[in-house]
Amino acid sequence: MKPAAFEYLAPVSLAEAVAALGRDDAKILAGGQSLVPMLNFRLRAPSLLVDIGRIPGLDYIEDDRAGGLRIGAMTRHHTVETSDLLRQRFPVLHAAMQYVAHLAIRNKGTIGGSLCHGDPAAELPGLMLLLDARLKTTQRTIAAEDFYEGALDTALAEDEILTEILLPPLPAGTGWGFEEFARRSGDFALTAVGATVGEEARIVAIGAHETPLRLRAAEALFPDIEAAAEAAREEVSPNDDLHGSADYRRHLVSVLTRHALMSAREGAAS
Ligand SMILES: Cc1cc2nc3c(=O)[nH]c(=O)nc-3n(C[C@H](O)[C@H](O)[C@H](O)COP(=O)(O)OP(=O)(O)OC[C@H]3O[C@@H](n4cnc5c(N)ncnc54)[C@H](O)[C@@H]3O)c2cc1C
Repeated sequence: MKPAAFEYLAPVSLAEAVAALGRDDAKILAGGQSLVPMLNFRLRAPSLLVDIGRIPGLDYIEDDRAGGLRIGAMTRHHTVETSDLLRQRFPVLHAAMQYVAHLAIRNKGTIGGSLCHGDPAAELPGLMLLLDARLKTTQRTIAAEDFYEGALDTALAEDEILTEILLPPLPAGTGWGFEEFARRSGDFALTAVGATVGEEARIVAIGAHETPLRLRAAEALFPDIEAAAEAAREEVSPNDDLHGSADYRRHLVSVLTRHALMSAREGAAS
């Protein structure tokens, strides 16, 4: 199918973009890798697309001088995936990027687009919870944990643009694990789990709930990994669908939690 007719605007400043978004039924276009298929299937039919790809200064990965990173919202997945700085500071994020779609999609898709699209099976939203990211917009700074309100539903207002992702430093000696199960390489996760172990254990489930989810009961049971893996199964509320039943996804969450925690514990110990 082809999309319904829309107007197209490519502003060159954030102020101009925000003003355009004030119009009824406008939608931001970033890499287009999620939005364009939705337009083609007519799941969305905005009257105006505001392409933020020509606004300068939204594509960067920078040291925040405190050991963390600042990432511009228009930074392409491929840039994130190949950044040495990011691999050194946040190896768990680097590992998770290998599971995001295919190269052609990673060349166009942006970190901001993935976070704002809010697919519960996407890796990046879950990683932001795991890494306690702060999301900076044209209006405010929001904790990643407060950003997701439902499947494909975020706290963003209609005229609010995500501009930057702030990743606080991981404490020295933090170990990590990331485990994903998908039917084919490049597909969305059937389920994935990320974990970090340092001063505290953090565990996030992806594709097993209507939003990415911190598994706090499981975290509290660490270092008993078997107990944490059992608790993880009960914390998520996955859907049944063509690709797998809810019970199967719960089972996967439990198995992947065990594996992610074992890797994280091993990394922390070494
Ligand atoms: C075949 C296929 C397989 C894929 N597999 C995976 C996968 O395994 N894992 C995965 O994570 N993703 C996957 N994706 C999605 C891909 O990662 C997209 O690139 C990403 O979800 C959206 O990024 P984008 O820049 O293309 O955003 P767009 O499609 O342009 O926008 C997505 C949504 O976010 C909004 N938006 C975009 N940028 C901003 C901003 N800065 N501020 C506010 N709102 C904004 C848009 O209005 C739109 O609603 C897949 C996509 C395809 C087509």
